[in-house]
Amino acid sequence: MKIICIGRNYKKHIEELNNKHSSEIIFFLKPETAIPIKNQPFFIPDFSQEIHHELELVVKINRTGKFIQKKFSNKYYNEISIGIDFTARDIQNNIKKKGLPWEKAKAFDGSAPVGKFIQKDNLKLEELDFMLKINGKIKQTGNSKNMIHNIDDIISYISQYITLKKGDLIFTGTPEGVGKVHKEDVLEAYISNQKLLHINIV
Ligand code: MG
Repeated sequence: MKIICIGRNYKKHIEELNNKHSSEIIFFLKPETAIPIKNQPFFIPDFSQEIHHELELVVKINRTGKFIQKKFSNKYYNEISIGIDFTARDIQNNIKKKGLPWEKAKAFDGSAPVGKFIQKDNLKLEELDFMLKINGKIKQTGNSKNMIHNIDDIISYISQYITLKKGDLIFTGTPEGVGKVHKEDVLEAYISNQKLLHINIV
């Protein structure tokens, strides 16, 4: 199983980090060990002083596919959820300056918690609200209509390079509003009004 994450997929998030727009889809990978062990909290790693939350819609691939045409992408997933692409922003800023790969800032243990999956058939995928509360206050909100590249585009594009397999997860990029998490924070993430993910930070 692999986790593929999309970067720079919402205009206002690109702007908040002063990044450049890209017409090409940007993706990177996290290993299976980025999924937290069941019922464990998120442990802030010693190597970073600035772990950011990035709230993202997550798609679960349901069968093997390569060179998937856009019009068939929707046959490769049934379920969607919400996840956090935890990012060591201090490390990422450093390695970005040097033009080095992002894994040190992105792929660490527990960096990809994902909520309960729900069937996509009951959802309006092209206009889906999602939200993150920290300690009961709304910290990040998004809507899939603001994605630069939609889910079907993303699946098709990735599959030109990497074979997708059943159980693979795709994080579809964060909207604006990323920020630092602190010890003892409680994160709750929602799609529409449905709470799907709960994480304690320690
Ligand atoms: Mg992200």
